[in-house]
Amino acid sequence: MGLDLSPFAEVVGPASSGSVWIAGQQSRLTAPSSIRRVTAPSGIYDLQPDEMTVVCGAGMSIDELQDSLRAVGQYVNLPRGDSGSGTVGGALATGRSDIYRLGRGATRDTLLQARFVNHDGQVVSAGGPTVKNVSGFDLCRLLVGSLGQLGFLGEVILRTRPIPQSSRWFMMSEAGPEIVEAILRRVYRPASVLWDGHKVWFCIEGNSRDCDETTRHLAADLQSPTEVAGPPTLDHYPFRQSVPPAELAELVQSHVQQETGQLVVEAGVGIVHRQTPAEPKATEKTIELLHQRLLQQFNPTGRLNPGVSLTTVSTL
Ligand SMILES: Cc1cc2nc3c(=O)[nH]c(=O)nc-3n(C[C@H](O)[C@H](O)[C@H](O)COP(=O)(O)OP(=O)(O)OC[C@H]3O[C@@H](n4cnc5c(N)ncnc54)[C@H](O)[C@@H]3O)c2cc1C
Repeated sequence: MGLDLSPFAEVVGPASSGSVWIAGQQSRLTAPSSIRRVTAPSGIYDLQPDEMTVVCGAGMSIDELQDSLRAVGQYVNLPRGDSGSGTVGGALATGRSDIYRLGRGATRDTLLQARFVNHDGQVVSAGGPTVKNVSGFDLCRLLVGSLGQLGFLGEVILRTRPIPQSSRWFMMSEAGPEIVEAILRRVYRPASVLWDGHKVWFCIEGNSRDCDETTRHLAADLQSPTEVAGPPTLDHYPFRQSVPPAELAELVQSHVQQETGQLVVEAGVGIVHRQTPAEPKATEKTIELLHQRLLQQFNPTGRLNPGVSLTTVSTL
């Protein structure tokens, strides 16, 4: 028995009650003043450290959730924005992963079960409550990255993870593609590998002794990595692009040669952080049609978050 979502469903209202917008902390998207605004419930309803799951309201601040989980040595893999921590629902609905995706996995994999309010004000449940139940594609994963247009998240069950004993960042200079490749192959599950064509930064999480051993091996075979306080700041790289990981080396090298503005790539993942926007790629027709069909099914009157779009978010 989860949280009673009927008060939340009532506020959202049935299809006949017009356009409605769900707001988190609005760290990414400001709710339009012309549309009725609602917020999701907040708070932790169940925490099962042994099962590695937590049940909380989607309106809960990520910072508060992480504080509570820290007490049991765990955390949830949700990205924090810089200007404010954001809410659990906001992070899931935006669907963006942070620079630790290589090791910690994608934001969407954090969501095990969602109870959400649909376009007609009904409470719908999707996904399974335990880590073991989740295999393959599930409806709740569809809500991740949907910007609230497929439903308003009310209560979510999230997968938790143990806080690693250590999380250490290293840097190597004069790093060509072969060095990046070697790090990806030789470091056991690096949490993050960032490369700008000249320098490479990487994060090793886990047992501190294992980490020392890995860096000793790298020093013997390649060069001695310098331990640094953290990742490079990506503040000057406001634009993102996603490319197949195998194409990253060529992309970075062509930028270095042509001096066409700098970028930092997430090696092994394929995210490119850019100073200038990439040439827009035409969305494949089939994907566009799929989006339209999903919207027709889930949000037939277009009343949930009207006007919100991925373009609006990615340019922020
Ligand atoms: C380094 C870094 C950079 C980031 N940069 C960006 C960025 O440039 N742009 C970006 O968009 N995100 C970015 N993110 C992700 C960002 O952290 C999340 O978008 C943030 O947590 C949003 O929280 P919020 O509560 O402020 O959401 P809001 O800004 O309030 O809402 C974001 C979206 O989620 C929807 N939403 C909110 N709550 C719910 C709910 N309960 N159910 C359904 N939908 C809901 C809103 O309607 C809106 O469409 C970044 C994260 C990191 C780690």
